[in-house]
Amino acid sequence: MSNHEQTIEPHLNGPLFLNAIQSISEAGKLINCDENVLTRLKRPRRTIMVSVPVRMDDYTVKVFTGYRCQYSSTLGPYKGGIRYHQNVDLPEVVGLAALMTFKNSVLGLPLGGAKGGITVDPTKLSRTEKQNLTRRYTSEIGPFIGPTKDIPAPDVGTDPQTMAWLMDTYSQEAGYAIPGVVTGKPVEIGGSLGRNGATGLGVVYVAEAAFPKIGKTLSGSTLAIQGFGNVGSHAALYAHQAGAKVLAVSDVSGGIFNGDGLNIPEVIEYMKEKKTLAGFPKAQLISNDDLLLLKVDALFPCALEGVIDMHNAEKIQAKMIVEGANGPVTIDATKVLHQRGIFVVPDIIANGGGVIVSYFEWVQDIMSLFWDEDEINRRLKTIITKAFDKGFSLHQEKAVDMRMAAMAVAVQRLEKAMLLRGLYPR
Ligand code: NAD
Repeated sequence: MSNHEQTIEPHLNGPLFLNAIQSISEAGKLINCDENVLTRLKRPRRTIMVSVPVRMDDYTVKVFTGYRCQYSSTLGPYKGGIRYHQNVDLPEVVGLAALMTFKNSVLGLPLGGAKGGITVDPTKLSRTEKQNLTRRYTSEIGPFIGPTKDIPAPDVGTDPQTMAWLMDTYSQEAGYAIPGVVTGKPVEIGGSLGRNGATGLGVVYVAEAAFPKIGKTLSGSTLAIQGFGNVGSHAALYAHQAGAKVLAVSDVSGGIFNGDGLNIPEVIEYMKEKKTLAGFPKAQLISNDDLLLLKVDALFPCALEGVIDMHNAEKIQAKMIVEGANGPVTIDATKVLHQRGIFVVPDIIANGGGVIVSYFEWVQDIMSLFWDEDEINRRLKTIITKAFDKGFSLHQEKAVDMRMAAMAVAVQRLEKAMLLRGLYPR
């Protein structure tokens, strides 16, 4: 048995990590990747597990479990979000850290991949408890993070305020302000302009680059967008501003549809006031399931993972899917859609806008020189379009689906760097 076929240790045995390993194998095979490189790419470099004792509001102490997986630093400092969720466990964190490694690689960023998390339901914590949890977790992983080592960011259950507490704790322990230790911070303490809408804007830039490949342009095309949170609402707004007709949008309560196109700024105003899409005038109601089956030029799934799978892949009528969410189209469904001639732009490129602007935030913090929003957006467009073009070239050259092509570009970049750097000691 070669190392390459080594068995999975129990602490790594979870669906996300197993999927990542399968993608690495398939992409590696496609580009004839060095076997020793592949063996190394299938294991995280370092995973830290910490106990986080927290004084609760009733003065009792609870101990939570936290993780930080530093998957690869081949291309630069580790980079990835911190998740607060009751289902966080070691294999999930490692799987997400692997995905960050390949996302940062395909986007051409000078960053490695990481992910962190705490097993906790943050909705059950008071503000003080959440702050205590964040500060102690930061202190526990403190020796392993920093602007030149590992730069966390927000993820599910964490937000700019959480990042502000992280930055403050790290800085207090050092004795001076170190904004570059974390991204996704509020602008007042070194955050970047444009970070909030960056993922949605990136989805739209990618769609602009992808439409000509199916003989269309974004302007004048029809869209359906699932999810109206950070990613979906910004994608809808920027697509609307670029001249696309957004026929339907949805949130957890269901969707709204107008065959002539929704007035997205009005929908956003309505959402701000009512906190739901339900009841928006000038539109019919549509279920989330039916929204995915609409006959539109492109579908942007921007809510949940696994919404397009083997049960509906044959029924999709859109000509193109741009994955705003992480993993909305399953790997099996991607293959069915590819055979049906439906072009799927995968998440690791399509929703890369967030990490790209996080990268800009880190760069600006290190320079202490801040760019205006036009500069940020111009640079975002250049980087994300270049990643799309690279993926598209390999997709054509090897006649594989775009998800596989993107992964192969990522593995190829890591392979080159690993072979140049070599194996230490040897
Ligand atoms: P969010 O919480 O702001 O919004 C999620 C949206 O999905 C909400 O409109 C919610 O109502 C909707 N939703 C929830 N359950 C649903 C259901 N069952 N059916 C239909 N809609 C449902 O989250 P977000 O930041 O917009 O992230 C969305 C996705 O994009 C996630 O997969 C996330 O991991 C991914 N992502 C986000 C970013 C970012 O910068 N925010 C970056 C990369 C990837």
